[in-house]
Amino acid sequence: MAHPQYDVCIIGAGIIGLSTAFRLTEAGKTVLVIDRKGMAAEASAGNAGALAFADIEPLASPGIMLKAPRWLFDPLGPLSLPIGYIPTILPWMLKFFRSSLPDRFEQGAAAQTALMDLSRTETETLFAAAGVDGLLRRDGALSLYEGEKAWLASLPMWEARERHGIGFEHVTGSRLAELQPGLGATVTHGTFVPHWLTVSDPLDITTAIGQAAIERGAYFRVAEVCDIGEGEDSVVLSLADGSQVKAHEVVVASGAWSHRLAEKLGDRIPLETERGYNTTFPKDAFDLRRQLVIPGDGFVITPLDTGLRIGGAVELAGLERAPDFRRSEIMVEKTKRILPGLKTDTGKQWMGFRPSMPDSLPVIGRSPNAPRIIHAFGHGHLGLTQAAATALLVRDLVLDRPLPIDLSPYRPQRFS
Ligand SMILES: Cc1cc2nc3c(=O)[nH]c(=O)nc-3n(C[C@H](O)[C@H](O)[C@H](O)COP(=O)(O)OP(=O)(O)OC[C@H]3O[C@@H](n4cnc5c(N)ncnc54)[C@H](O)[C@@H]3O)c2cc1C
Repeated sequence: MAHPQYDVCIIGAGIIGLSTAFRLTEAGKTVLVIDRKGMAAEASAGNAGALAFADIEPLASPGIMLKAPRWLFDPLGPLSLPIGYIPTILPWMLKFFRSSLPDRFEQGAAAQTALMDLSRTETETLFAAAGVDGLLRRDGALSLYEGEKAWLASLPMWEARERHGIGFEHVTGSRLAELQPGLGATVTHGTFVPHWLTVSDPLDITTAIGQAAIERGAYFRVAEVCDIGEGEDSVVLSLADGSQVKAHEVVVASGAWSHRLAEKLGDRIPLETERGYNTTFPKDAFDLRRQLVIPGDGFVITPLDTGLRIGGAVELAGLERAPDFRRSEIMVEKTKRILPGLKTDTGKQWMGFRPSMPDSLPVIGRSPNAPRIIHAFGHGHLGLTQAAATALLVRDLVLDRPLPIDLSPYRPQRFS
């Protein structure tokens, strides 16, 4: 039965929207989640499943500005940008470049660290409250390097992480082979992060959190939101089927499409998409002991309950272009070097849209033009990792409670 007016309507049933729905329903709010495709239909379904609390460095870093040109000239490298998309993405790239300057990078890393610290504790709390903590894997992650030069180049990053209290162990020889048997001869060094968590499957965890919200009273509707407008005492959403929904407050958690709704409020937010690719093989494709991170080539290999997933890469090609699955294939080819025994006969390819801001920080805060609307999107490579913290922050904004961290680094108007 339809509800006449909701306390909060959330647009988007990905990991951000559903985690927020869970927290708000738990706090006693009447919540409706609307998604045009259903639960976990986009990035939240096919990601690599890492709770990457150690990833505190924004992508826009002084280091990446040195590597990016080399990667861009390699058509199948970890970063690609079709020539035809350059004029569209240029303003975003300029903001990315400015965010990578040393002082802004340091500010970005501090803001990312604050959100990660909150994410670490909040993820455990939310997963336990929603009864999904059984879907967590606690076997850590192993970063792999081909050659001493590549490992030495990674050391400043590990030292920075050490300063933030992130524990790890550099490994070689028999310890490396013990952590992951069957590595290829090119892999000489590794760094093991024991407290790194992954999930059994990102689709399963997202839908399980959504179901937990529904069990606690959240409403769910499949529909496309075409327009959004703030009235005196409510927000009105116009849906593609011609109907309207009213809510006291609205959360825009629509992933890589969120800026299109924000624009209707007059909020111009430089959200782009970093498209990512993967291939998922049956579980028996390789005896994988934990998530493997391949920093040199920008991808990860993840053991899921549903299979073995090889994925990553960044393609700056917008929301409309057809996928180029050669990006999935090249990661599989590179993996054969790292895991020579990998069976690659029956893989399933996927492409997803990361919602990305130029400074690698999400947008969390009230719309400057329509304060009944809260933006919660733009988590880039880290949406699964930061979903629980985002849900808590949005809940506290709705309840008008003191916030556990300063939200100014994530404010929607920071690029205005
Ligand atoms: C290859 C790859 C690997 C990744 N690996 C990781 C990882 O290991 N760890 C990690 O933390 N993150 C990872 N990410 C990032 C993570 O997947 C995303 O940051 C996260 O899923 C974003 O969640 P979301 O809820 O904001 O968006 P989505 O999951 O994209 O959900 C947005 C929803 O909004 C709906 N929607 C949009 N517009 C409308 C509208 N107008 N009306 C109604 N509904 C609408 C869409 O249908 C969609 O379901 C990865 C991403 C990719 C692509």
